[in-house]
Amino acid sequence: DMSQTVHVNSVIKHSLNLLGNQIRKSTDHFSIAFEKTRPRVRGNYQKIEQVIINLVQNACEALPDKSHSVAVEAITLADPARVTVLVRDEGTGITQQDMQHIMDPFFTTKRDIGGTGLGLSVSQKIVQEHDGTLEFTSEPGRGTVAALTLPLMPPEE
Ligand code: ADP
Ligand code: MG
Repeated sequence: DMSQTVHVNSVIKHSLNLLGNQIRKSTDHFSIAFEKTRPRVRGNYQKIEQVIINLVQNACEALPDKSHSVAVEAITLADPARVTVLVRDEGTGITQQDMQHIMDPFFTTKRDIGGTGLGLSVSQKIVQEHDGTLEFTSEPGRGTVAALTLPLMPPEE
């Protein structure tokens, strides 16, 4: 069902609850910042949740130790018709060369922990179904920002 009304703050909260243990094991510096405007998008709750889970899981897996941070943030300021969910990490980063392949099915640099390389290809497909975009910026050795952008439903009365 792609016609659900999905409250972005709620789907973020629910995703982070599901990942609670992994987040606590990965970092002592986790933060969330919600958008005051209570953004809503049209689509499938479970699928959007799956994307957020994949992004936060990748952020956690990129951290060298618990002193490095992960921050999740929802923002609508840049464009009144869209909401962006940012997942920032202070992890290992992504090289320019890997950056061209991270969305490819089965591309993984996590052979050691049994990465499937499917998280981002599936996420990319889901985001496209929702007329959204998924973009990464990264500085190797410093960290990565994943930006999930989705079209907003009109604000509530
Ligand atoms: P997997 O996590 O199973 O390896 P994904 O499709 O989720 O597969 O990610 C593909 C690859 O993209 C990862 O193996 C990793 O190299 C890179 N990647 C994705 N997110 C991050 C991130 N936040 N920091 C560093 N590398 C990342
Ligand atoms: Mg992954």
